[in-house]
Amino acid sequence: MFTEQVKLYGVFGDPVAHSLSPYFQNEAFQLLGINGLYLKFRITAEQLPAALAAVRCLEFGGVNITIPHKEAVIPYLDRLEGDAKLTGSVNTILLRNNELIGYSTDGEGYLLSLHHQAGFNPKGKTVVLLGVGGAARALAFRLVQEEIAALYLVGRDRKKMGRLSQALREKTGFSAKSVLFGTDRLNMIAAQADLVVNTTPLGMYPRTELLPPFPLEECPRDCLISDLVYHPLTTTFLRRAERLKLPTLGGLGMLVYQGILACQIWTGQTPPFSPLYQLLEDLLQQDKQ
Ligand code: NAP
Repeated sequence: MFTEQVKLYGVFGDPVAHSLSPYFQNEAFQLLGINGLYLKFRITAEQLPAALAAVRCLEFGGVNITIPHKEAVIPYLDRLEGDAKLTGSVNTILLRNNELIGYSTDGEGYLLSLHHQAGFNPKGKTVVLLGVGGAARALAFRLVQEEIAALYLVGRDRKKMGRLSQALREKTGFSAKSVLFGTDRLNMIAAQADLVVNTTPLGMYPRTELLPPFPLEECPRDCLISDLVYHPLTTTFLRRAERLKLPTLGGLGMLVYQGILACQIWTGQTPPFSPLYQLLEDLLQQDKQ
């Protein structure tokens, strides 16, 4: 039950109709006994400044930021913390003492999933990222901080790959190698890989038959194959890896850890992983029927 002092939270994006965050955060608040209410708000680019002013004026606890505002939101914030500073992308905002503080939990959420769900330590490892969009950027910056040995960026747009590897070099001093999809070099890269991550939307519902073109059959037997897509829970890419007897990691864990991190930033409390994972898994299963 809400009392008069209920704190508001929410997600700003466009579109947001399919966001699972309200289910997740409202359940997390309930599990923690927090008097909070989380709602989704479809906010266009033109509405973004007014929506952020409303966060201050209505004294929200905080908000999540999703597509397409993760970079555009930065000029309206008072300061950035941690990975948000490094990546220039924000997905969580805390309102504290009338200050809007921006965070990015994408990279840390992925790292927690890697550690807790797959028992994988990236230090000294060779990592291959398929796709060079926003999620790949977050993962690349976070994995470099974990002292990986080598990073291959695989994309279809030479300019975009160049921009990400230049940003990594300038901000961290790390040199990633760029490779185009469809080239023979992918066989050699697959053979060296310890971790391959699909960061493209290929395979996402409803086009579940799609998968990134990568020679999984060349990967070593203990190479972890990971997919950020979580709907479906097991993508065609991961099924292919399973058939090759390679270890796999789906995208739902990352989503859950990101939600946990956001809740921690806002409330200082840590909601439990398992019931929240189960909640989202059930919602995704229902959506499939
Ligand atoms: P994004 O910024 O749009 O980046 C997508 C990347 O995939 C781009 O590099 C894009 O290439 C590439 N791509 C798209 N279609 C392709 C194709 N047919 N062939 C080759 N490359 C292709 O999106 P994002 O925000 O990074 O998200 C990517 C995926 O990760 C989405 O499915 C999202 O749901 C998922 N994700 C999951 C989590 C989680 O918590 N599990 C978190 C974040 C994102 P171009 O740049 O050339 O278009």
